[in-house]
Amino acid sequence: MAVRAMVLLGAPGAGKGTMAEVVKAAMPVTHIATGDMLRDEIRAASALGQEADGYMRQGRLVPDDLIVRMVMRRVDQGAPDARYMFDGFPRTRPQADLLDRHFQERGAQLALVVLLEVTRDICLDRLTGRRVCRKCGANFHVRNIPPLVAGVCDQCGGELYQRPDDMPETIERRLEVFKEQTAGLIDYYSDKGLLVRVDSSRHRDETVPDLMQAIADRHF
Ligand code: AMP
Repeated sequence: MAVRAMVLLGAPGAGKGTMAEVVKAAMPVTHIATGDMLRDEIRAASALGQEADGYMRQGRLVPDDLIVRMVMRRVDQGAPDARYMFDGFPRTRPQADLLDRHFQERGAQLALVVLLEVTRDICLDRLTGRRVCRKCGANFHVRNIPPLVAGVCDQCGGELYQRPDDMPETIERRLEVFKEQTAGLIDYYSDKGLLVRVDSSRHRDETVPDLMQAIADRHF
């Protein structure tokens, strides 16, 4: 068995992180979330973290070469038959091209790209209300998925915080960046026959069966 991968594609607030948690709980898959990896690097004050921090605070994308190197290092360290779920990667055409090339060289296969479709209003609402656990990274929403105790993670008791890039001005920029730099990947993967569209504007309980069906259909 060769390495296989799937991609979760969608605007900020589309529900990539939430759906990734569901998939992870249902099957053995290695979750590679580039945003989480970068936030870990920032916390560790590594050279990469220091470079990424400024871009992230402004809602801009971190340069392609840094991202691709970080992801491929992780993939190359994994088992030769591992299954990966990319979340928030690729985000630009050069990233997609480099991923293709890397996978081709290693005989790895991209099995499907799930596009989580949402309206702009829903993205805005989800991002402004999002709260994240500092310790375990679990996601909450002040109204839609409130924690049992305000400000405290249900899962590990960690402190909930608002990501600096979830402030209204930065959210606008991130949605623009998605339109300008990432949305082109929809046609790119659709032309390759890899794209599956899932309506992610619904409640998660309605979205999950469609997502799991898409994964099963593609024998991921
Ligand atoms: P996320 O957690 O996926 O919303 O990502 C948060 C931020 O990390 C983004 O706004 C970018 O600044 C940066 N980032 C995450 N993934 C990528 C990527 N594939 N390419 C460039 N920047 C990224």
